[in-house]
Amino acid sequence: MVFSGLAERLQETFKKLKGKGRLTEEDVDQALKEVRRALIGADVNFLVVKDFIAKVKERAIGSDVLQSLTPAQQVIKIVHDELAELMGGSNSKIELAPAPPTVIMMVGLHGAGKTTTTAKLANLLRRQGRRPMLVAADIYRPAAIKQLQVLGGQLNMPVFSMGDSVAPPDIARAAVDKAKRDGNDLIIIDTAGRLHIDEELMAELRRVVDAVHPNEILLVVDSMTGQDAVNVAKTFNEMLSLTGVVLTKLDGDTRGGAALSVKAVTGCPIKFIGMGEKLDALEQFHPERMADRILGMGDVMTLIEKAQANFDAEQVEKLNKRIRSMEFTLDDFVQQINQVKKMGPLDQILGMIPGLGNMKKLKDLDFDEKELVFVEAIISSMTPWERQNPQEIKGNRRKRIARGSGTSVQDVNRLLKQFDQTRKMMRQVMDMEKNIKKGKVGK
Ligand code: GDP
Repeated sequence: MVFSGLAERLQETFKKLKGKGRLTEEDVDQALKEVRRALIGADVNFLVVKDFIAKVKERAIGSDVLQSLTPAQQVIKIVHDELAELMGGSNSKIELAPAPPTVIMMVGLHGAGKTTTTAKLANLLRRQGRRPMLVAADIYRPAAIKQLQVLGGQLNMPVFSMGDSVAPPDIARAAVDKAKRDGNDLIIIDTAGRLHIDEELMAELRRVVDAVHPNEILLVVDSMTGQDAVNVAKTFNEMLSLTGVVLTKLDGDTRGGAALSVKAVTGCPIKFIGMGEKLDALEQFHPERMADRILGMGDVMTLIEKAQANFDAEQVEKLNKRIRSMEFTLDDFVQQINQVKKMGPLDQILGMIPGLGNMKKLKDLDFDEKELVFVEAIISSMTPWERQNPQEIKGNRRKRIARGSGTSVQDVNRLLKQFDQTRKMMRQVMDMEKNIKKGKVGK
């Protein structure tokens, strides 16, 4: 899970602090020492850490925090706010051109995920109502054009290419004209990468910039490379004046040092984060929400957005009605599981639920998506009548269902119990809602 090492250490530190009640200056000092160690352990730039700790300390000790009724909470809030600030403060949006097409230029070193991210970003922006066109301007890596065409095909999105013998600035210019003709209000240009930064590459990228004056120049860097990623960002920014950074492979980065240092070192905001190889695994970067995740407060907003993007509104409405009338059956249960599966890997989803992300027990659990396959198998081995009346499924029927689904009676028992609990929970939620409406419970 992203930042799992850092999250665990910070949460451990603050648990100790919360257990203390009143705090002395030494308590805060001790806690900040641990925070410093945790940040260094997460591969955050040393100078950034120093500055961070100084800021937190000044706010925590200089004000009336220690005299307050909840000093530990206040210290945690200060750390939270400073973490968010460190990662960029407010979230930064894509700059749209006053007259379309908006031009986004993607730059980066080989292997950082530039081509994949080009397609992911187009996918994300299309969901926000744009009509993107992809532009293949990496004419040096033999497979790059083909790769972008394949990704574009998967997304059913136009890919503009002029082969590998036209110069990239000319391709970019022609792409802008083509987008205007075809009514595409956004183009994303995939440019050449290299193994290392070299002057020749930068000169060519600058020629593309001069040719089409992009609204955004986004650098794609691999977060797993930690401080190297930060250094790459620094150099690219000095040479090209970036408008933002995309951090890829954050799904595999348990340390998160790059995410915490990029903004402070380069002045460039992180605009998007890659959270997996699939084409929908790109998220807009929200510093506040990331700070929430690091401190184990969950990230409910991103969860809701994911749900909205993946859930079919009509189906949700239908489901809602069935829940209310207590007609919720095992068929609905399967449907619901499938909807959740579409939202992404389970461990990422759970990490966004407040209090769950860093629970020891959950981390030790190996989230086996195959479990869900079993659930489906069990339910589909039931007759329609059984699915409508799960409470009537007794011994012999349970044995038959287990045999039919290749599972054990214990598996079937467990599933039926889970379903029963889900139903009970739903009833409780509904009762609570009713009471709130009647004014029995405060908001
Ligand atoms: P390029 O050379 O910079 O264009 O890199 P590619 O787009 O070809 O990506 C290199 C590899 O990184 C591919 O295998 C991608 O699937 C993978 N990749 C890209 N972004 C992510 C991400 O956010 N998470 C993970 N796990 N893999 C990614």
